[in-house]
Amino acid sequence: APRSTGYDVRVCLPQRALQTKPPSRKAKAAFVVLVRNSEQESMTSAIRNLEERFNRNFHYPYVFLNDEPFTPEFKEAMHRVSDAEMEFGLIPEEHWSYPAHVNQTYAAECRERMEKDGIYYGGSETYRHMCRFNSGFFFRHPLLDKYDWYWRVEPGVKYYCDITYDPFIFMEKHNKLYGFVITLTEIPQTIPSLWQTTLEYARLRRLNLEPRNPKETSTATIGPHSGLPEPTNPLFPYFRQPNGDYNLCHFWSNFEIASLNLWRSPQYMDYFNYLDKTGNFFYERWGDAPVHSLAAGLFLSTEQIHYFEDIGYQHDWYRHCPSKESKLGCNCDCPTTDTKSSLNHDLAPDTCLPRWRDWIKKQQKKSW
Ligand code: GDP
Ligand code: MN
Repeated sequence: APRSTGYDVRVCLPQRALQTKPPSRKAKAAFVVLVRNSEQESMTSAIRNLEERFNRNFHYPYVFLNDEPFTPEFKEAMHRVSDAEMEFGLIPEEHWSYPAHVNQTYAAECRERMEKDGIYYGGSETYRHMCRFNSGFFFRHPLLDKYDWYWRVEPGVKYYCDITYDPFIFMEKHNKLYGFVITLTEIPQTIPSLWQTTLEYARLRRLNLEPRNPKETSTATIGPHSGLPEPTNPLFPYFRQPNGDYNLCHFWSNFEIASLNLWRSPQYMDYFNYLDKTGNFFYERWGDAPVHSLAAGLFLSTEQIHYFEDIGYQHDWYRHCPSKESKLGCNCDCPTTDTKSSLNHDLAPDTCLPRWRDWIKKQQKKSW
């Protein structure tokens, strides 16, 4: 395990303390931001907030990605709100276009039908490219080659608490590979065949999806091109209802702190290619969130997933804030009541948090 830096445990320090004794070791990590030029304002507000709550003490770089070239105005606006290193990348055409096997006429028909049915983003073509890009390509962008970890940031998100430890180092130290804050159920009409396709894939590749007695403890240290160790306690059964169907739970991917090498692994690349071959990123509307989550199910052990309960976070109108009882959270300024523009998602009807907690409890009771 990497040596302790003092910032790998979840402490709540006054920002002053960080300024007098800055973190001594940094992870090979960056913020990854897929964003449009038109989102400049909501992007600067997200960065201003993230800098104040975390990055002014940790100085992680930002990597901005776009399917169109960033304008000079956009870049200048980003530089104005943070001194952190920033790189701006153009997404290669092959990562944001139709693969040859996809029937574009049929794809357009599917969009029309889903639009008529009122399915969220059902009629959007760019949304599908975005989801496919986030599922299979972002971690292969050359600007990310030098990193092992990423923290995904979207325009308009809010951080409500100070983060005075290094979440990347925390992940390294504790053998975590995927971290989330909000977990919820997916809209079933967007993924009619994702679960069956995933089961088919697992069968075809003879993946072991049941827990087994760990002879040696599984390790999370994987290199950029190495395979993943077989999970001893696969997360997969968490997603499976007693009747064998998908429970629709997934980790909301607008926030992710995770390993780039997880997605770069031959196992995940093989799974993504298998999914991509169906064309259902386009004919259906598969989100990168359920894809990442089910992949975590196939390839990771439950213990390799981390719930960042201490991070106060909001995307769109949904927020998570650490509860009083948890005694987590550092100098939070969370809303105390719900409004139309900020709802406590942990109590929302579509939250998977209770199921996640039950699952974790069950894992801890398991004795080999
Ligand atoms: P939602 O969070 O599912 O409602 O989807 P968003 O509209 O927020 O898109 C997710 C992320 O992808 C955000 O960071 C967007 O800025 C980004 N994004 C979505 N569509 C595009 C696009 O067409 N081009 C670019 N460059 N970024 C996009
Ligand atoms: Mn969003």
